[in-house]
Amino acid sequence: MSLFVASRSAFRVSAPLKRQIRSYATDPSPSSKGSNNTLLYGAAAAAGLAGAGYYFLSGSTAANKAQEKVKNASAAVAEKIPGVEAKKAFTGGDQGFLSLKLEEVEIINHNSKRLRFRLPEDDMVSGLPVASAILTKYKPLDAEKAVLRPYTPISDEDTPGYIDLLVKKYPNGPMSTHLHDMAPGQRLDVKGPLPKYAWSPNKHEHIALVAGGTGITPMYQLLRTIFNNPEDKTKVTLVFGNVSADDILLKNELATLENHYPQRFRAFYVLDNPPKQWTGAKGFINKELLKTVLPEPKNENIKVFVCGPPGMMDSISGNKKSPRDQGELKGILKELGYTPEQVYKF
Ligand SMILES: Cc1cc2nc3c(=O)[nH]c(=O)nc-3n(C[C@H](O)[C@H](O)[C@H](O)COP(=O)(O)OP(=O)(O)OC[C@H]3O[C@@H](n4cnc5c(N)ncnc54)[C@H](O)[C@@H]3O)c2cc1C
Repeated sequence: MSLFVASRSAFRVSAPLKRQIRSYATDPSPSSKGSNNTLLYGAAAAAGLAGAGYYFLSGSTAANKAQEKVKNASAAVAEKIPGVEAKKAFTGGDQGFLSLKLEEVEIINHNSKRLRFRLPEDDMVSGLPVASAILTKYKPLDAEKAVLRPYTPISDEDTPGYIDLLVKKYPNGPMSTHLHDMAPGQRLDVKGPLPKYAWSPNKHEHIALVAGGTGITPMYQLLRTIFNNPEDKTKVTLVFGNVSADDILLKNELATLENHYPQRFRAFYVLDNPPKQWTGAKGFINKELLKTVLPEPKNENIKVFVCGPPGMMDSISGNKKSPRDQGELKGILKELGYTPEQVYKF
C-alpha cells in the first residue's frame, strides 16, 4: 500500500458520524476480502516509512549504518529456528533499569516526537507482554528525587534491536521535556515490564478504546496485537479525542487498520478545535457519542479501555486511585450502565 492510499483512507475518518456508524460491521468491503496480516503490516510499514518528515538527527552515514544493523538483526531473528524464543530485553523482577542509547529522533508534529532507543543487544526484542508499559527514570540536576514516568512503546514487541516511544511534550513536564531535549547518543534509564491488562486472543468479543491525546499509545499496543494475530477475531471500536487535527497521533496507522478491517475496526474522531471542513464529532468525548458507538453494557463479553489526561478520565470513567488501584467507576461509563468489571483504566 502506498502513502496515497493511506492518506485517502485518512479522509474517511472525517466522514459524517452517522455514515460511519451505519457502515460499521455491515458492509463487506472489497479491501477486507483479500486482507491478511502480512499485507497489513507491509502496508503499515510502508505508510510509516513514507510518512512525512523523517529526521535522522544523527547524520546520514550513521543513520544508514544503524538501519543496516537493524536489517541484519531482523534477518538474524527471522532465520531463527521456529519455537526458539528471541532474547527479551525487559525481564522484570530484580532486573532494575537498563541504560538505553537514543539512536534517532523523528519530529511528528508541533509537540510530539518519536524516539528510537537501541536495546542492549541487536538481536534482543522488547518482549513486553501485552498490555504493559515501560518505566523511564531521570534525575534533574537540582532535584532530590528522580522523576519516573510510564510510556508504551509503539514498536512491535517482537521487533529486534530497538523500541520506539512516541512522546508528547507538556509545558514544564519534567520527563517529556527531558525526552524532547535528548540528542542521539545520549542514554535513558528504562525498566519493564509494567504490567497492565493481560490480553489473550479472543478474551473479549468486542472491546472499546476511549483515548485522549497520547492515551492512544496503550490502545495502539492492543490494536497491533489483535490485528497482527490471525487467530484473534476481536472487534474493536476506538473513540479518539484530540484538541486539533494536527494532534491526532498515529492517524495513518489507524486509517490503514480501518481500511483493512472495516468489519472489525471502527474509529471515531473527536476534535475540540476542529478545522472548518471537519465533519466528525466536535468538542469533548461525550455521553451521546459513547452511547451511540460503544458496544452496549448488556453484552456480556465486552471491555472498555480508557486512557487520557486526568480531566478526560474524570469525566469518562473517574481517575485511577493509584497505579495499582483502578479506583471507583464514575462518570459517563457508569451513567451508561457499565460495570467496574467491564472497564479498565490504563
Ligand atoms: C500506561 C501509560 C502509558 C503512557 N504512555 C505514554 C506515551 O506513550 N507517550 C506519552 O507522551 N505519554 C505517555 N503517558 C504519559 C506519561 O507517563 C507522562 O505522564 C507524560 O509524558 C507527562 O510527564 P511529564 O513528567 O513531562 O509531565 P507531568 O509533570 O507529569 O505533567 C505535566 C502536565 O501534563 C498533564 N498530563 C500528564 N499526563 C498527561 C497525559 N497523559 N495527557 C494529558 N495531560 C497529561 C499533567 O496533569 C500536568 O498538568 C503514559 C501514561 C500512562 C499511565
